[in-house]
Amino acid sequence: MKVFKFGGASVKDAAGVRNVATVLAHFPGDDLLIVVSAMGKTTNALEEVVWAYGEGRDTKPLVEALRTMHFGVLEEVAPGDQGARTALDTSFRDLQRTLAQQSSGRVDEDYDQIVSFGEVWSTLVVSAHLKHAGLSNTWFDARTVVRTDGSFRAAKMEWQACENLAARYLKPLYQEKPGRVLTQGFIGRTADGQTTTLGREGSDFSAAIFAYLLDAESVTIWKDVPGMFNADPKRFPDTKLLSHISYREAIELSYFGASVIHPRTLQPLQRKHIPLYVRSFIDLSAPGSTIDDRSENDSLIPSFIVKPKQLLISITPRDLSFIVEENLSGIFWLFAQHNVRIDLMQNSALAFSVVVDDTPRSRQLIDELRKVYEVRYNEGCELVTVRHYDETTLARLSAGREALLEQRSRTTARFVLK
Ligand code: ASP
Ligand code: MG
Repeated sequence: MKVFKFGGASVKDAAGVRNVATVLAHFPGDDLLIVVSAMGKTTNALEEVVWAYGEGRDTKPLVEALRTMHFGVLEEVAPGDQGARTALDTSFRDLQRTLAQQSSGRVDEDYDQIVSFGEVWSTLVVSAHLKHAGLSNTWFDARTVVRTDGSFRAAKMEWQACENLAARYLKPLYQEKPGRVLTQGFIGRTADGQTTTLGREGSDFSAAIFAYLLDAESVTIWKDVPGMFNADPKRFPDTKLLSHISYREAIELSYFGASVIHPRTLQPLQRKHIPLYVRSFIDLSAPGSTIDDRSENDSLIPSFIVKPKQLLISITPRDLSFIVEENLSGIFWLFAQHNVRIDLMQNSALAFSVVVDDTPRSRQLIDELRKVYEVRYNEGCELVTVRHYDETTLARLSAGREALLEQRSRTTARFVLK
């Protein structure tokens, strides 16, 4: 059994949907579980619907545009499939029914009920096309097995329940060989039947969840880039492919801000030693990247990650008392309260310095900290992380820039540049 994941960019239009069939045709004899995200920018468009709904504005034009787009693609990729048209129409009516109801008054809960439709629509379209292309498949509602708690927009997995549900509802679909099941990323359901989501870009994590539940032999994330690179190819000219790295290294890279794989994806795979492949859906002959237990190649190529728009905040007690544990625990508590993630920290006797994303939440936190501490900050900074650094790479990245703060461990160098 192989698990495949296709992201929004890979199914953004009729050509993308057709290409999914092309990829699958290369695996005619395999049992497959295929996870698909919402088409293109549909999730962003549905977020607009959520905001409009919450503010009591008219949502009809927004939904109408989504309807036109999805029916347009369906007509191109599965012409004349009346069953698929009816299924898609029913789903749009379900959304209209949701929008006709009173808001729950809880934004995150409303958000999940509305935004989850994007994945349902895309999988209906892709499933219809695959059938049209002669690739039989079963459309499966991911919520049947992805049982979560009720933390809307960031739902947490209830693994034991998922295992029971998968044994009962998902595994039997593979009695016929080869079995091909097509399902949604990103969405789940609580025990009392409410839809939840796993956080933006959560479909990679969904693929890992299904691989874990089915004891898959591998997960492949099909992307528009031919694998994982040592830096963002959009920013740097001569990036190198990371052809083989370990789970640990990939977790570190995504922790430091590399955006290729959703960070939560790797833990379930590591627990069952399921390899993850990142491959190009454009060039099927390209080898791509492998992530598994083997770490011998981790240190061969320096990787660098640049986070722009950072705030370097320096916090000092007003009475110049030393920064000690009582102060730190209060400071950390405030960060947690404001849901601001610390990207880097450093302390001295009199000051505690942190680097965070520059967001409205971070600015509010600064106001809050100022009630107790002396707070200074530098805006417009870049946080640069280099894994497996060498002096040449460091010199090249910091040339002509002022480094406000620097930290080095054996494997990782980080600096804040202005
Ligand atoms: N459709 C969701 C999003 O755009 C989930 C995903 O694509 O992974 O965030
Ligand atoms: Mg997406």
